[in-house]
Amino acid sequence: METKIRPLKMTEKLMGFVGKYWQDLWENHRAGKLVAWCSGVSPHEILKGFGISSVYLEGYGGFCSVAGISTDLCNRAEALGYSPDLCSLIRNFIGATRGTPAPGPEMLPFGGLPKPDLLVCMPYCPGIYKIWERYSRYLGVPLVVIERPRLHDALGKEEINRIMRDTISELQEMITFLEAFTGRRFDYDRLSQSIAYEQEASKLWWDVVGMCRNIPAPMSILDAFSHLFPFHCYRGEPEAVTYYRELKSELDERVANNIGSTIGLEKYRLYWDNLPIFFRIPEHIQKFASYGAVPVAATFPFYFGFPELDPERPLESFAKYSLFTPANVGLQARIDFTTKVVGDYSIDGLVMQRSRTCLVVNMGQDDILKELTKKTGLPSVVIEGDVCDSRFYSDSEVNSKIDTFMEILARQGQRKGQGDDCGL
Ligand code: SF4
Repeated sequence: METKIRPLKMTEKLMGFVGKYWQDLWENHRAGKLVAWCSGVSPHEILKGFGISSVYLEGYGGFCSVAGISTDLCNRAEALGYSPDLCSLIRNFIGATRGTPAPGPEMLPFGGLPKPDLLVCMPYCPGIYKIWERYSRYLGVPLVVIERPRLHDALGKEEINRIMRDTISELQEMITFLEAFTGRRFDYDRLSQSIAYEQEASKLWWDVVGMCRNIPAPMSILDAFSHLFPFHCYRGEPEAVTYYRELKSELDERVANNIGSTIGLEKYRLYWDNLPIFFRIPEHIQKFASYGAVPVAATFPFYFGFPELDPERPLESFAKYSLFTPANVGLQARIDFTTKVVGDYSIDGLVMQRSRTCLVVNMGQDDILKELTKKTGLPSVVIEGDVCDSRFYSDSEVNSKIDTFMEILARQGQRKGQGDDCGL
């Protein structure tokens, strides 16, 4: 029998909310306002201080994947000569913007991407940096780069302080460049306001993710991957605060009433490692639910937001945001962070997703799994997938691995008294 999922009311609101952002973006572009394409944690808040609209390109890849067109777009990028081994998010983006044959706007989510006036890159991955460099030449628009050195385990306090100082001075240089580029004086008050909104949205988001520690969890962490989209769209904007306040309030109500994400007992709580497979999120939720299992924890959602932001020290706190995020630390720090997450969320088993074309997030995954297994003794399964390219994913293979994994968990016995059987 198919286990019923309890959809969140906010999921119904999600696309309308995100659609409004894209509509405004296109209107701003048509009205002649500046648009920047940004990667990763680029300082969207500084751009907003100049009235520049920002687009988070990796987030757009997520939309294309959810819409089921990302593999087609990857193909269109490969027709230009790009290798299928190149990150699928990047191939998706190339396919959407330069692919051959060129995709029509009606095929692309939100009518595609408005042409940018500048590119902003905070390189966390070589592929992203190289493609930005290439697009800067191809489109004839400036490229602003802010370095983001990884904070490896062995770095001392002095080296970290130096990296902090360098990052702040690069942000100041970016402001100087943008003053000349736009002919406008930078509005520091607006930056502080934007950082304040970002801080508030970050706190709410981390609270939302933290609520999955409850048993039963009010939401699957795979759902949380979709609820990241407002973060992509409304960085440093009041809309993100409103969205996450509403989402938190819906989850508060579920927790208060002991309502879980599925109808029936939550027998097994799972940790999901690495990126989501965006084009299969609902199917994975359903597959796990058929065994009474819910993925309740992941480290990826913590890569977004930074509750320690300080509007009084906007540049410094932004530098900390970009450097001290769990996405930018060394292997031992990642192992420690993942072990803590697994402990905090009362996990019964580990699902390690190996994203075929992402070499960066995969890096160290075997070491993390080895350490996690040693420390927790939890059973695990490694499933092969990809963020955007469905050719690297097989339903039958993944389903069969999950079936075997769930049998192992079942043999160990379910947790006691973790149910939500209220039938609502
Ligand atoms: S981190 Fe991975 S998924 Fe993200 S852009 Fe780089 S290679 Fe692609």
